[in-house]
Amino acid sequence: MKRRRRILLWLALAGVLVIIVALVVIARPALHLWRVSSADRDALPPIPAGHADDASRQNQTEIHEIIAVAEDRAEAEAQLAHLLHKAASEGLRVSIAGSKHTMGGHTIYPGGIVIDMTTFDDFELDASTKFLHVQAGATWDEIIAYLDQHDRSVAIMQSNNSFTVGGSISANCHGWPPNHPPIASTVRSFRLMGADGSIKTCSRDENAELFALALGGYGLFGIILDVELDVVPNERYRIERTTLAADSMPQAFRASVLERDDAALAYCRLRVTEERFLEDAVLNVFRSDPDGPIPELADASMASVKRSVFRGSAGSDYGKRLRWNAELAVSDRLAEQAVSRNSLLNDPVQLYQDRSDTTVDILHEYFVPPVNFAAFLTAMREIIPRHSGDLLNVTVRHVIEDPDTFLRYADQEMFALVLLFSQQRTDAGDVQMQAMTRELIDAALQHDGRYYLPYRLHATVAQFERAYPQGREFFELKRKYDPQELFQNTFYLKYGSSVTDPAMDE
Ligand SMILES: Cc1cc2nc3c(=O)[nH]c(=O)nc-3n(C[C@H](O)[C@H](O)[C@H](O)COP(=O)(O)OP(=O)(O)OC[C@H]3O[C@@H](n4cnc5c(N)ncnc54)[C@H](O)[C@@H]3O)c2cc1C
Repeated sequence: MKRRRRILLWLALAGVLVIIVALVVIARPALHLWRVSSADRDALPPIPAGHADDASRQNQTEIHEIIAVAEDRAEAEAQLAHLLHKAASEGLRVSIAGSKHTMGGHTIYPGGIVIDMTTFDDFELDASTKFLHVQAGATWDEIIAYLDQHDRSVAIMQSNNSFTVGGSISANCHGWPPNHPPIASTVRSFRLMGADGSIKTCSRDENAELFALALGGYGLFGIILDVELDVVPNERYRIERTTLAADSMPQAFRASVLERDDAALAYCRLRVTEERFLEDAVLNVFRSDPDGPIPELADASMASVKRSVFRGSAGSDYGKRLRWNAELAVSDRLAEQAVSRNSLLNDPVQLYQDRSDTTVDILHEYFVPPVNFAAFLTAMREIIPRHSGDLLNVTVRHVIEDPDTFLRYADQEMFALVLLFSQQRTDAGDVQMQAMTRELIDAALQHDGRYYLPYRLHATVAQFERAYPQGREFFELKRKYDPQELFQNTFYLKYGSSVTDPAMDE
């Protein structure tokens, strides 16, 4: 009897212990995620009337006015030509805006007119030749939904769907397709309205100089009206995930991706926890899997959980560990799962975007040749903690030499390291970020690398000129095509204008 009671007592104790352990294991992450989601806002704070800003939420600037482009093509062309004549005669500058996801005032000029392209957004697939004729203000989310109905997909785009075609080709974006140059390689032609209001068709054969300048030209050569864009078949992929040492990523990428015919999309994510900072990696490869139906186009699954896990990593090493471990835990479940190309490309920026008043997410991107990848990573491991950079995410993509654009970042095969930081929305936060960015740019330059231009204008003019040796000629050609410097933005003011403001380089 006594023995039975003792066993029951032990069993009860063990039960309580299991419950306590389960509570500790579940309660901490649950509490963390609950805190994050209850502090989250539904929308970004509004921008005051008469002002413009961009995705940095650090560039609020008073402007003359924002003009939405007419939806009808003929009306839009007449409206824009009239607007340019009027701006020139009144001495106003003109900047061009798509989704405004650049972060350095690339869509803004103080006191200037902002042309909002997003209302100019029709598109149609050419049934015989299978290219997309698209107006520049259309965004990838609309395009993907349409192409999906026609079994096609976007050939090269960013890893999110929130950007306009005009903004994407003006930054010359790139994404997850390995062994490809940036998006310019998929542009057959576009029509460009110059400063005098005339329209030119630009392609590799017609107005070829303007073609190379306006692709990756940040709106400085005119208004891109519409584009003929190559598209590719939508496909069914299966996901393969491998964990590895970050330093060995180039070799693993070569073997699993570049030397295989079936690797359609690929990227690598690096570990950002304090322990083993940038030492581990997960390589994600999406392999063509033609034996089976293509899954239907889907929105991001479990969006609110994904958002809370991601947002909870800002300012919290615990949150960063939670995210890393959660991603490793779902890897097995995802392995071998079938997914469509279109669904993979269909995540909006809003899924993870910081909407708080006090902090903002800031992107950086560095391109380094594969042989220098590990050395650049060593430099990052030293520079970022020394500046207390709150690094939320690093993905690595692959891009090959860009034969098309004038101001090019991919002048050879590169690995692109995309870094997302959280920073305070204060002058002090920006000063701290600037100091770190300049060191990271120096490190990239020392390793024969480049940095990407659509983000904050923290690079000095000297750094810009080292990274983009063709920069001076690029800006001289801008003035050849636009002698009155009608098309301007703060990127041009800092690096290219004939009247630069030295204060911007401090
Ligand atoms: C969260 C986030 C994720 C990103 N991911 C990636 C990525 O995976 N890969 C990548 O390469 N980049 C990435 N970017 C950068 C992005 O590709 C560029 O910022 C791109 O320019 C955004 O497109 P947009 O429509 O917002 O352009 P905007 O910021 O509106 O404009 C960009 C530039 O293009 C000019 N422009 C816009 N429309 C026209 C037009 N019709 N005619 C002439 N000039 C025009 C503008 O004047 C401006 O200089 C990312 C940015 C963010 C914020």
